Amino acid sequence: MNEKRISIAIDGPVAAGKTTQAKRLAEALGFLYMDTGALYRTIACYMERHGKVIADIDEVLASIDLFLERDEKGQQRMFLGMEDVTDCLRTPSISKLASDISAVPAVREFLLDMQRAVAKEQNVVMEGRDIGTVVLPDSTVKIFLTADADIRGFRRWREMKQKGQPEDFHKVLADLADRDYNDSHREVAPLKQADDAIMLDCTELSSRETTQALLEIVREIAGI
Ligand code: C5P
Repeated sequence: MNEKRISIAIDGPVAAGKTTQAKRLAEALGFLYMDTGALYRTIACYMERHGKVIADIDEVLASIDLFLERDEKGQQRMFLGMEDVTDCLRTPSISKLASDISAVPAVREFLLDMQRAVAKEQNVVMEGRDIGTVVLPDSTVKIFLTADADIRGFRRWREMKQKGQPEDFHKVLADLADRDYNDSHREVAPLKQADDAIMLDCTELSSRETTQALLEIVREIAGI
């Protein structure tokens, strides 16, 4: 049972398209998809609901009942106790709080085993900020997916609008810059390209072209 699993790590800044691309790759390759940002967001959601701040983090981690489940289609669902909170995680306030708490070493430590356990069991495409550098430093393929900040801001603004949650474009840009700054300047597991990661800048690529480019990279490196 020691068969070596294949893991594809996709890291990069906010709104680079990691989620869409990681899901498509997982589907094309028949791998499990894992969104690690959802773990940080679920802790933030719990804190928001219970009126907790960063100073309460030890108490939060001791009392939180956080689970990751898969639905019948294999999609990741996040639970707090019995409640499926997956659809509550994508608000601007939770994005901001998730980024703030992600700088706390105890939070990262708390989530590490959960992430590693998934890659031990199955072939996986895992997306986040520190997958290639910290969570799965031996992953088979490491990608650093990025694009110009204006393009990422525009794509995020359009996505919010399409979801019926329109936001001011300049606010979207400012939030994105704040989160990227936080994520790349924290002391523990900052967002950065792993030395052995391949960088793909998708500023000039359509979403489909990006998927195509990623599939080519993965097939070439993983030999699949
Ligand atoms: O990817 P997403 O935007 O959902 O992640 C929310 C926040 O969680 C990020 O801004 C980042 O601060 C944190 N995060 C992290 N490490 C990861 C995934 C997400 O620090 N592997």
